[in-house]
Amino acid sequence: MSKIMPPAHPFDTSYLRDSDDDDKLKEECGIFGVIGVVDASNFVALGLHALQHRGQEAGGIVSHDKVQGFQSARRFGYVRDNFTSKSVMETLPGPIAIGHVRYSTAGSKGQTAIRDVQPFFGEFAMGGAAIAHNGNITNANALRRELIERGSIFQSSSDSECIIHLMARSLQRNIPERMEDALRRVEGAFSVVAMTRTKLIGVRDPLGVRPLVLGKIGDGWALSSETCALDIIGAEFIREIEPGEMVVITEKGVDSQFPFRPQKPRFCIFEHVYFSRPDSILGGRSVYETREAIGRELAKESPVEADLVCPVPDSGTPAAIGYSLESGIPYAMGIIRNQYMGRTFIEPTEQIRNMGVRLKLNVNRALIRGKRVILVDDSVVRGTTSRKIKEMILDAGAKEVHFRIASPPTAWPCFYGVDTPQREKLLAATMSEEEMRDHLQVDSLKFISLDGLYRAVGEAKGRNPKQPQYCDACFSGEYPVVPSDQIEDGFEMKPAAE
Ligand code: SF4
Repeated sequence: MSKIMPPAHPFDTSYLRDSDDDDKLKEECGIFGVIGVVDASNFVALGLHALQHRGQEAGGIVSHDKVQGFQSARRFGYVRDNFTSKSVMETLPGPIAIGHVRYSTAGSKGQTAIRDVQPFFGEFAMGGAAIAHNGNITNANALRRELIERGSIFQSSSDSECIIHLMARSLQRNIPERMEDALRRVEGAFSVVAMTRTKLIGVRDPLGVRPLVLGKIGDGWALSSETCALDIIGAEFIREIEPGEMVVITEKGVDSQFPFRPQKPRFCIFEHVYFSRPDSILGGRSVYETREAIGRELAKESPVEADLVCPVPDSGTPAAIGYSLESGIPYAMGIIRNQYMGRTFIEPTEQIRNMGVRLKLNVNRALIRGKRVILVDDSVVRGTTSRKIKEMILDAGAKEVHFRIASPPTAWPCFYGVDTPQREKLLAATMSEEEMRDHLQVDSLKFISLDGLYRAVGEAKGRNPKQPQYCDACFSGEYPVVPSDQIEDGFEMKPAAE
């Protein structure tokens, strides 16, 4: 009798984080806030649902109502499973609410406690405030030590809680000013949505690493990580919050200030490649169009003779379409994704690991057999999934497999709000492109160049090496904010001359 055993828990995700099958960078948070509408929390739940791709581990909503004051609900799991029932949403009344979805925050990977789930709430002399943070504070260890020495009692392991404690120690008279004070002490990347009893506040760090946009809904306003979440509630996209800008929104309208020392923006270029949804607008252009342009650049830089261009679904799809349009090689759905498989289940045996990718992706055999196939993916992180996909394609009878990657080699970890494996686990940190090709055992492997990526996002002259227009640290190793906590923990920056 066969020794093949079925998995004990086919949809158990408990091993996901440590698995070699977890082979994508993960955006850690999405934030959303609404003011000036009836039952604002319902809009926030919808907005968070549209931002679910930015974090699936947990979510939370805080609302304020004149009678019931501040109310909150924080839960593990998907928004649709937690914030759709009447019984939960009725506990979140009022015309103002903010929310947060998270993947994981620094310090608590793999062992999230409900106390780490945002928004965080603080009660100050002038009233309460709740905040939701997307990004990562790179001097959180030092701040936490200082705050604890001065008497602060932390409730969570999240770096974001520092902001609440810094606000509590500020001597300013109102909450927006206290928030300014607090955020001036914070290093790293932050997009913040916060609320008081009467104000919705949005802030972006001076480099504008993570996105934040403003929308209008009826007489009210919305703040969101991405425009796709404005669409779902029927809000009109007004504009992006500028890097270094703080907006304070009341029933009188939007007040804008720039409280930080101005700096040249360094938006995360990986938002264009992978994190943001393709139906969102970034920098005045649809993310889908940008990804298609990345595929076109890739085809110009790395042509190859083949019969089909196939995306690794779903994130490789727009780039594959761009590659196909530029090269003239037909586009085809050579790999089919099971849309009902949220996340690959993982069990700790090798056999079950191999099944993991097959549960999510399956090869369209009739199409692939006997063909020279170009596979377009958004990135290679550890390379484990790429290798399994290649095996599936060859098993299906492909004659040749050529990988084309819509980002440069990911050789450095991100410390600005994206979950990245340690540097030594990144394939590109230890191997050249040719060594990676050999490791993946494919006929060819090519990544888009950093200049090509810059051209595709709209920088006609490519990357300015003296003053890069974006954050691209995970490709270049040039960090726009020194990751001081990580250096303290032993991380070695790239030598200046390398
Ligand atoms: S290091 Fe990479 S993923 Fe992180 S913010 Fe910079 S470009 Fe984005």
